Amino acid sequence: MRATTDLTGIYRILLERFGPQHWWPGDTPFEVMAGAILTQNTNWKNVELAIRNLKDAGLFEPHRIHVATTSRLSKLVRPSGFFNQKAEYLKSYCRYYVSRHGADVDRMRSAPVRRLREELLGLKGIGPETADSILLYALGRPVFVIDAYTRRVFSRHGVLGEYDAYEYWQRFFTERLPKHARLYNEYHALIVRLAKDHCRSKPDCSGCPLKDLKVVNVRKGVKVL
Ligand code: SF4
Repeated sequence: MRATTDLTGIYRILLERFGPQHWWPGDTPFEVMAGAILTQNTNWKNVELAIRNLKDAGLFEPHRIHVATTSRLSKLVRPSGFFNQKAEYLKSYCRYYVSRHGADVDRMRSAPVRRLREELLGLKGIGPETADSILLYALGRPVFVIDAYTRRVFSRHGVLGEYDAYEYWQRFFTERLPKHARLYNEYHALIVRLAKDHCRSKPDCSGCPLKDLKVVNVRKGVKVL
């Protein structure tokens, strides 16, 4: 049997296989923000250790991080790797969050998304993936996150080049999906799950829900044969 599908159809296939992923791991929006910064180039377990250290030291609060010394922060976030840089990035983010938004997530959320994104991208150590993760997962704004897993999965099916520009990848998804934060949230989480379970550096295509996916024409959609 032949059937055609598009990005929404792929989403349904993934959701049916893996179920809701309940992202992002983080008890509060600020924990999601800090996690998005600390998770760069490391796995989530190491981020959890760093956040645990900050909490145990009574520092896990934007104003306190803002005024803490970089050397103290570095020691606490050490498990997340690149700890000197990450301490600086976290401090710089907290300076922004406190001074621009009064460390008030609702106030930040009410600002225009385009302006927020520009401001975030102007901060030290915040690139598009981190900025968009904060916008989507901490603030609930409809911004599709592109990461290495997204690039890997979809480039292996010929959708785009793995190293094509971030904005190009992002546009590919946002032009083809309804603009809903919940959909973007779940879709990204499902892609990560797919990449971890099947689409690893050495792909395990047998049993993968996308094993029959072939791209026929990106402009017209994606066809499953
Ligand atoms: S079929 Fe293979 S290449 Fe495609 S997403 Fe699954 S594991 Fe990756």
